[in-house]
Amino acid sequence: MARSSSAPAPVPLGSLTQPGAREGARCQMCRSERVTRISMELTDGSEVDFTHCLECEHRTWQHGDEVLSVDHVLSRAKRTR
Ligand SMILES: [Zn+2]
Repeated sequence: MARSSSAPAPVPLGSLTQPGAREGARCQMCRSERVTRISMELTDGSEVDFTHCLECEHRTWQHGDEVLSVDHVLSRAKRTR
């Protein structure tokens, strides 16, 4: 009874519930796809994508393809009046 047909690799079901998960969202550090991605808007109106890796806790902010530094984001995210 030789099984000649190779079963395709099972597709892992996404356990994350974030809406609008884009394909290609990966951790910049460990390349894991187990990331939480949130789109947020800074005080100056620019939209950034916040990616939080569930594997290594690495956090990344991106504006388009540009990776922003944490200091850059925090300086804009909080504004003291
Ligand atoms: Zn990671």
